[in-house]
Amino acid sequence: MSGKIFPQVCFTHPGPVAEGGAVCPEWGRTAHGAGDWREMMKLTFLGTGTSQGVPVIGCRCEVCTSEDARDMRLRTSAMVETRGCRLVIDAGPDFRYQMLRTGVRHIDAILLTHEHKDHTGGLDDVRAFNFVDYPTIHRVDLYATPRTLRSVRKDFDYAFAEDKYRGVPEIELHEIDPAVPFRIGEVEIVPVSGHHSPRFEVTGYRFGRLAYLTDFKSIEESEIQKLQGVEVLVVNALRYRPHDSHFNVEEALELIRRIHPREAYLTHLSHEIGRYVVADAALPEGVHLAHDGMQIEIDE
Ligand SMILES: [Zn+2]
Ligand SMILES: [Zn+2]
Ligand SMILES: [Zn+2]
Repeated sequence: MSGKIFPQVCFTHPGPVAEGGAVCPEWGRTAHGAGDWREMMKLTFLGTGTSQGVPVIGCRCEVCTSEDARDMRLRTSAMVETRGCRLVIDAGPDFRYQMLRTGVRHIDAILLTHEHKDHTGGLDDVRAFNFVDYPTIHRVDLYATPRTLRSVRKDFDYAFAEDKYRGVPEIELHEIDPAVPFRIGEVEIVPVSGHHSPRFEVTGYRFGRLAYLTDFKSIEESEIQKLQGVEVLVVNALRYRPHDSHFNVEEALELIRRIHPREAYLTHLSHEIGRYVVADAALPEGVHLAHDGMQIEIDE
């Protein structure tokens, strides 16, 4: 990360940050020491909140009024940097602000998990990456299943029109088969399918020792097999009470027990999860609540 750093990118530590440094020294907390992302895989949680985000508009609960930055959750998204490739998973309504917080001026691709708005609503803002070196245009590569791409084509039809107006997002669509691994640059990616509801598929992604699953409600045995050997597992857990289309904490922990990673992180959290300090401490060893800005480094 280099170049101009956008000021006021951190909730808790607003203000300009040293030239060439991380966006905010306090914002990204690296769990496993420093490392070069060309040699180590780095996962950054860009957002860890459910579809409404946390705080929820108008809510006065203790989580939504907490001053702890770890209780402030943008919509769920993450960035994976490995082998010279910077990949972003999902681009929800907070995409623009999430990108500003990281300070990056280039991404190699966006992978979508599914078409819900909290995961796709910010795609128009890829325009900033398109035009960052204007007049050179950098198209943004977008990878998703055929169903998700259909929805992107519909929702952002102006970007795919025959006769486009000036300044539309420049997006290159790449269809993936969720049963077949694919490559972006030197990174091999294994799609992992789950059910968001009985008839609605969602796609998780495995990158070597890291796997990232969100908006899962159930997963077939054959897909669990694809997760064997994962050391760092990210999985969604909405709240403690059951929910129709998302794992609750117990269901997430059940999957974690089956895969048995070294560490697991819960994401896509609602305000019902409670305050970070309390909820995180109550989790089993090796399992943590993710929070926005948390960074995890994984040996390749
Ligand atoms: Zn979602
Ligand atoms: Zn609340
Ligand atoms: Zn969803």
